[in-house]
Formats: sequence, structure tokens, C-alpha cells
Amino acid sequence: MYPRILIDLKKIEENVDVISSKCSARNIWVAGVTKVFCADSKITDAMINGGVTYLADSRIQNLKKFEGIEIQKYMLRLPMMSEVEDVVRYCDVSLNSEYETIKAIDKVAGEQGKVHKIILMADLGDLREGIFDENELVKTAGKILELKNIQLKGIGTNLTCYGGVLPTEKNLNKLINLKKAIEKEYHVTIDLVSGGNSSSLYLIDENRMPEDVNMLRIGEAFVLGRETTYGNRIPDTHDDTFVLEAQIIELKEKPSLPIGELGMDAFGNHPEFEDKGIMKRAICAIGRQDIDPEGLISVDARIDVIGASSDHLILDMSAAGDSYRLGDTVKFKLTYGSLLKAFTSEYVEKVYV
Ligand SMILES: *Cc1c(COP(=O)(O)O)cnc(C)c1O
Repeated sequence: MYPRILIDLKKIEENVDVISSKCSARNIWVAGVTKVFCADSKITDAMINGGVTYLADSRIQNLKKFEGIEIQKYMLRLPMMSEVEDVVRYCDVSLNSEYETIKAIDKVAGEQGKVHKIILMADLGDLREGIFDENELVKTAGKILELKNIQLKGIGTNLTCYGGVLPTEKNLNKLINLKKAIEKEYHVTIDLVSGGNSSSLYLIDENRMPEDVNMLRIGEAFVLGRETTYGNRIPDTHDDTFVLEAQIIELKEKPSLPIGELGMDAFGNHPEFEDKGIMKRAICAIGRQDIDPEGLISVDARIDVIGASSDHLILDMSAAGDSYRLGDTVKFKLTYGSLLKAFTSEYVEKVYV
């Protein structure tokens, strides 16, 4: 059945091995982030075999799938009040920034006879989650330390997600100083400094990762073999771990400019077109419900993606000559956003190779 996504478990395991070995050589623990592949169990196993220390996901439905796996589980997204019971039941650790939520977790952990671990999140300027004000962060840590069923396991940050702010020695040292301030103020030791996601890996390569950062949460680099600071390929990794195949349902020569009075497209946009004369165009049976057309990279470099509606992907096949016929499939590598959509779409079959 098409469309389908071919998943190379061996290549994923090799990617995880290469990157996590590099981290452990620097005494950095690695959480394997599973959300982009919806915590698929075979891919999760490949991550574990590749050498991750923890599993991490932002959705509780995904974390529930890990029940029975003997590895510490991290809830990445700040817990909703409505999911606190499940977070305590299915996760060992959660990332938090709101004292009210942590207090609710403490109560539930008491009821479940558990001690739940917290990574307290600092916002270093990317302006997604985390406490922005330094004094407020240290004070919140003090209040957390008084809770009986909560262990303040670490301090963390998330960068390059909303604001595009890069991790640097400067902002990560700020995180380390916050940890030290908490330790000094309350006479405790804090085990973990969780210094970000795939975009922090470049600091290891450039030998600029601050000594005290001892944990990273890695998703994209593992699955796509790409670091996310500069978008470079990571040496000795694979970028074709996932290959999407879509089938051609129409193949015809047509003009490149629409004919008639132009209004809105299916998504309310006013598209613009360039006149490239008559083109050989293919339609594949896949659409925006399953992918972002901008996030498809044709394996055959002669093929260009022109656009897509909900269920139709339109390709410029002019340079491909007579290589393709109706019913043939076209292969694509995927960016993170398209991979996320393709995995989430129940219309895309998942096949392991
Ligand atoms: C998704 C996520 C990650 C992983 O990010 P990648 O760029 O895929 O490595 C790490 N931390 C948090 C909090 C996340 O939500």
C-alpha cells in the first residue's frame, strides 16, 4: 500500500551509536527523544540498542507505550494539570516550570507512594518554556526542595525551538550558574544540567561545551543525521533512515500557469506562479494531511516539488524524461516537520527494512 514510509532500523541504531558515543566521551547522558516517530516500539528499541540512557517524549500517550521497559522515562512537555496522575504513573522525571503543577505532582506522587523527579526549566531567551527571572527560579527551587515527594533532579533549558536562539557557552554558563546558586543557597547538590536538544551538539564538536553540562535530549540528530544549529550533516551518520514513497496517479503535460481568474487556494492563500511554459507534471497520492510539501526532498534530483493540497502532491517531472510512468512511485527523504506529519498520519503505512 502507498503512501508508505520505509524505516531502516539498522541505520537509526548506527546514528544513535555514533552520536551518543560522542556524548558519553564528554560525560554527557543522553535522552533519546521519540516524539517524531510517535514512540514506535521498534524504533525505540533501535534507540535503546544504539545506547541512549533515557527515553523522552512530550506526549503521555507515547510514554505509556514504554511501560515495562527498564529505562528512566522523561516527560518533555510541561505536564497539563489534567495529566498529572499519568505523568507520575508512567514517567520517572518531568520537565517543569510552574510551582502549582509541581505541587500537584507532589500530592499525586504521595498518593502513588513514589518520589517523582523534576528538571526545573530556565528560559535563557528562546521564549518557549522555563522561568525567565533568575531570582524567581532560585526561589522556586527552594519551594520545590520542601516538597516531600519531589526530588529536584536537575536544571534544564530548551533552545532553538521557538525563538531560534542558539546554545552558546555564554547562555549555558548562565544555566550552570543558576544551578550553583541553588546549591549554595540551599546546601544541596543538583545532579543534572540538561543543556538542550540536537542544536547543542555542535558545542561538543567545537570543544566548547561547558564542563558542567551533563545531559542532552536528542531527537532530530538521531533520526536524520543532521545537527540543527547550522543544518549540517553529522559525519558517519545516515540521512536516509526514513524514505517516503508516494504513487503517481496522474502524469501529464500541462501549462505552469493556472488558466482563469485567480482566487484563493484550498487553504485560503493567494498563490503566485512562475511561467515555465508547458511542463511534465505528476500528481502523487499524498498531501498536506500527511506531509509538508516544503519538507520533501526528492531522492531523484531531477524531480521538483511544486505544491500540494490536502490529498494531492504536484511534481515537476520535466527533467526526468520518460523515466516514470503512471503507477510508479517517487521517493523522498524528509525534513523533521514532514517526518512528524508522516508518522502521525494514519494514511501513511510504516514498513521496516
Ligand atoms: C522535542 C524536544 C527535544 C528534542 O529536540 P531535537 O531538536 O529533536 O533534538 C528536546 N527537549 C525538549 C523539551 C523537546 O520538546
